[in-house]
Amino acid sequence: MINYIKSIWEGLWTVLVGMRITLLHLFVRNVTIQYPKERFPIPDGTNGTAMARNRLELDMDLCDGCKRCSRACPVNCIELDILQVAKGVEQPILKNGDKRNAWVPSYEIDFAKCCFCGLCTSVCPTDAIKHTTEFEYSSYKRSGTVSYYFDDKKDYDRGLKFSFINLTEAEIEEKKRVLAEFKAQQAAAKAAATVAKPEAQTEAKTE
Ligand code: SF4
Ligand code: SF4
Repeated sequence: MINYIKSIWEGLWTVLVGMRITLLHLFVRNVTIQYPKERFPIPDGTNGTAMARNRLELDMDLCDGCKRCSRACPVNCIELDILQVAKGVEQPILKNGDKRNAWVPSYEIDFAKCCFCGLCTSVCPTDAIKHTTEFEYSSYKRSGTVSYYFDDKKDYDRGLKFSFINLTEAEIEEKKRVLAEFKAQQAAAKAAATVAKPEAQTEAKTE
């Protein structure tokens, strides 16, 4: 009988020894958090901390289409098209008060390739492109991963390619038309000047 009780006690003691670390953790502060309900704070550049290099965000009202970001990108994940501003016809300004040299009808970042090196942000002359504290790309729907940035009229189902366009199709077409007219006027003026020059030279020789 004594051996029987001893065996039960030994069995209980073995469980208690095995569970010792687990039991101790009931009385110490948690080192894990219940993500996604709880999150660790991410450095946002305030209080002297460096900004975390998470998802990029672009302010198109500051982007002048200089392409420095795409040239600096080591993995070629930035693609943009530009449309020259018709000088003398349009006088658009950027959000910072500087004159705009180009419109940007298409600007995409493929975050599947991005390594978050930060080179694009460091070369941008207007601080148009910046890192944010946003790091979550997952979603229950594939379109949900990109809907925040995509224009409603664009195709959502393009993986992690984020588009930052703030011009409508109609606005882009109008700007193309204005630029084409401006270039045609310039070409006509140049042609007229080329014709007028030899005529003036001939008149001078006759005199
Ligand atoms: S953070 Fe680096 S890899 Fe990502 S878009 Fe900018 S330059 Fe390219
Ligand atoms: S470097 Fe800045 S201003 Fe130039 S194209 Fe890139 S985001 Fe736009």
